[in-house]
Amino acid sequence: SLAFAAQEAMLTGESEPVDKSPADPVFSGTHAVRGRALARVTATGPHTRLGQIAALTRRAQPDPTPLEKRLHQVALRLAGAAILLVLAIVAWGLYRGEPLREMFLLGVSMAVAAVPEGLPAIITIALALGARRMLDRRALVRKLASVETLGSVTVICTDKTGTLTENKMRVELTGALATPDLLAMAALASTPGDPVDDAILDAAGNSYSRPPLQSEIPFDSARKRVTMIYADFAVSKGAPEVILAECTLAESDRQAATEWITSHAALGYRILGVSRDAHWLGALALRDPLRAESKPAIAACLAAGIRPVMLTGDHPLTAQAIARDLFSPAEPPPDSVYARVLPETKLEIIERFRQQREVVAMTGDGINDAPALKRADVGVAMGLMGTDVARAASDIVLLDDNFSTIVAAVEEGRRVFANIRRILEYFLASNVAEIAAMLLAPAFGMPLPLLPLQILWINLVTDSLPALALILEPADPGVMREPPRRLAEPLLRRQELLTVALASILLTAVSLGAGYHAFSLGYPDWQTRVFLVLVLSQLFLSLIPVAVLRLLGAQFLHPNRKSCVQRDPKE
Ligand code: ADP
Ligand code: MG
Repeated sequence: SLAFAAQEAMLTGESEPVDKSPADPVFSGTHAVRGRALARVTATGPHTRLGQIAALTRRAQPDPTPLEKRLHQVALRLAGAAILLVLAIVAWGLYRGEPLREMFLLGVSMAVAAVPEGLPAIITIALALGARRMLDRRALVRKLASVETLGSVTVICTDKTGTLTENKMRVELTGALATPDLLAMAALASTPGDPVDDAILDAAGNSYSRPPLQSEIPFDSARKRVTMIYADFAVSKGAPEVILAECTLAESDRQAATEWITSHAALGYRILGVSRDAHWLGALALRDPLRAESKPAIAACLAAGIRPVMLTGDHPLTAQAIARDLFSPAEPPPDSVYARVLPETKLEIIERFRQQREVVAMTGDGINDAPALKRADVGVAMGLMGTDVARAASDIVLLDDNFSTIVAAVEEGRRVFANIRRILEYFLASNVAEIAAMLLAPAFGMPLPLLPLQILWINLVTDSLPALALILEPADPGVMREPPRRLAEPLLRRQELLTVALASILLTAVSLGAGYHAFSLGYPDWQTRVFLVLVLSQLFLSLIPVAVLRLLGAQFLHPNRKSCVQRDPKE
């Protein structure tokens, strides 16, 4: 008689129906697919499993991204400074008896000059082009803001199996009490399609015949085992300590088995225990080779000051051995390997890192990974093996499920951020020059040198088009050899502010100089000349900052360059 069974894919992602005995709970949101049952309702709404997952997902609210925070900061400062400046100048003018109408015009001009009107559009384009380049490197960006967040990632938590490894397994060794039966029995607890099961079916060949299956308790990452029930017997395979715990066997045999398991796990094998009717049959050791890209990608993370953290449902010794292989010749940093991980563990890990003010990228593929993917600063889903639910909760999707793709996306993110800094420098240099020209003009006996419309034209058009070119600046060769930006680091550091100052002094001097020359000769078009010279000298500036200002910067403006390479221990 076939028992009652429920389809719980909604909760666990497992597509096979789960058999239910009278004591088992049946969960809200799942489907009855077989049998009859009378059930008592013990919880409703938020108290059900489904409700809990929904609540976890809801609680995992996204915070503003680092870029949003920083831009907000810059905008507030600019607005504050502009308002103060305008008020002071208008008050001073009125006190000196200037006509109200001119002072109003001056106030409006100053306010327009202070705000970089084209900047938001340019930053959006910079992020969009960054997303495009990430796609070329097989990372699909679902949320635009994560392009920049990726650039400031300090911790990457990644699944091991399938992301760092190939997920193509092979049975290499068996440690059996009842040798002839071990592989055949393991095969009787396997279903084609799962990489572990495929490896076992492959190794067993056709050394056995399969009686009709009566029922099955499928694998899930919490139970860590599979049981298949046939007419005359039941076979289980799974995490060896879980299988051993269910078996009765002589203490000496148990010790021998444990010995075999730990010594082989320590060699990096994934170990499976096999039992029949609660009798221990033995263990299998499977090899899942590292992806070729994983080791260099881990090294790239370490060079870039990013902590790679490996998560796996495997045995701790297996996890350790693989981590040692991945990190060599370096040693795995403390806290970088988590074994026998449950889906809830991921949320705990994220919360811990976030308390330490780390910016966390976290991979996931199962339905239960959705809350962690939402809570992470960058949730990374798998494009090949993942579930739709995980993808929907993610910020980026790896089209090749490959860890090294995350690292490539981080590099693009850092490049975008560096270019946003250059763009900001460029915009601010012209804004400061506009304000300085208006402040200084009266000292030379000139009226307003720039009209509000001219200023708007500069800020929207002649600033924006060269800034588009700056978006395409390639990454600095050292971009992955510096530590991540600190969260507290402002968008404009001392070196950026100095570059802005230097550039705006140049711009003001040439444009106001040209204007003064024309004004003193009595040319009526002297304001147009100020405008044209300012625009042209800015264009010139957009061509030199990388070549010359950077050089100048390296010589004079960044005397403490080293200090920005070392990480501030206080952070
Ligand atoms: P990972 O997070 O590395 O993918 P899993 O949660 O898939 O780890 O697996 C955890 C453990 O469960 C493994 O170490 C293995 O012992 C056992 N296991 C994995 N896949 C199967 C399977 N198909 N059948 C039985 N046991 C399995
Ligand atoms: Mg797995």
